Amino acid sequence: MTPPHILRLDAITKHYGPGLPPAIDRVSLSLGQGEILGLLGPSGCGKTTLLRLIAGFEKPDSGILYLGSQPVGGTTWLPPERRDVGIVFQDYALFPHLTVEQNVAFGLQRRDRRGRQAAPELQQRTAEAIALVGLETLAHRFPHELSGGQQQRVALARALAPRPAIILLDEPFSNLDVQVRLYLRQEVRDILRQVGASCVFVTHDQEEALALADRVAVMHQGRLEQIDTPEMVYGQPGSRFVAEFVTQANFLPAQPSPQGWQTEVGCFGAAPNGEADPTDLMVRQEDMALVEDAAGTVVVRDRQFLGREYKYCLQTPSGQVLYARLPIDSAIAVGSRVQIAVPSQRLRLYAPRETGARTPAVSSL
Ligand code: ADP
Ligand code: MG
Repeated sequence: MTPPHILRLDAITKHYGPGLPPAIDRVSLSLGQGEILGLLGPSGCGKTTLLRLIAGFEKPDSGILYLGSQPVGGTTWLPPERRDVGIVFQDYALFPHLTVEQNVAFGLQRRDRRGRQAAPELQQRTAEAIALVGLETLAHRFPHELSGGQQQRVALARALAPRPAIILLDEPFSNLDVQVRLYLRQEVRDILRQVGASCVFVTHDQEEALALADRVAVMHQGRLEQIDTPEMVYGQPGSRFVAEFVTQANFLPAQPSPQGWQTEVGCFGAAPNGEADPTDLMVRQEDMALVEDAAGTVVVRDRQFLGREYKYCLQTPSGQVLYARLPIDSAIAVGSRVQIAVPSQRLRLYAPRETGARTPAVSSL
């Protein structure tokens, strides 16, 4: 049995103007109870627009949006304030003249006016939400007296306090420096799990999406390219775009031959069965082995020490740049010539990029 959907989008399309390409192009997806869905894609691919459609700040041109089993965006319309959705924006969006406590209480008070919440309960809910994000000692401070990370925790507490059915987070850590970002994202994941929140989490950072989400939805030019577990998205990218964006892999043009796939830096994989077209071999940075060889055609142009590994920048005879990540136990000097080896089972084949914008994986080897 499939778990109940808390949110479902059915072929949602949104244009911002006539003559413009759709900002969202027939996107269908669903969110399960307690699930963290990572919405991943480059800047301008439509992530914020999709969140705004879910929140009800935008109306879809076509398609239907369901909250639970209720259609709310499409022929039937439910305004944002009645959608039971909490939002955390990139820029915190706190009220500067209100304290932490007053900011968090704000969302609850709105409900209070509709008679849903008694004052003692409001106070208790506010205190609980502040405790959840660990800001008890700062409850009476104003936003300008807090660090960026603390402000973003207030925004999270404000969104969580009314216990909405869905939390939407739009690049919540992108304005924070890397140290704060790393620990805050772990903390936010723990908090979301603790309260069992169902969440759509937007990021352009593939590492963040893979680390945080139960499932990752990869977007490109308004379309959903792939939605799957982090392991599947990384291990078996469904399109050339996903492979490039998520894994940052190398792609080597290859011709079929009786020995395998012939590239300018060697022959890889098994011979293709029957007729085969030229293809691009996807080689992940961490799957390449390098063997020093004075007769090798690949030159080490640069080597970066990354702590646990070296990242090598390699140049092929045609001038293509490849990247390889290898353990630090053997260091190959810059200027060396090398041979490249890749285990067959790690290679994947994609149609060459020129053949079309959307190139599904041809196959794995
Ligand atoms: P992302 O959040 O992934 O960076 P957005 O959803 O903000 O992407 O934008 C998707 C596309 O829609 C972009 O091409 C952007 O320029 C366009 N767009 C976003 N908001 C508006 C708007 N209010 N009016 C016109 N075009 C918009
Ligand atoms: Mg955005």
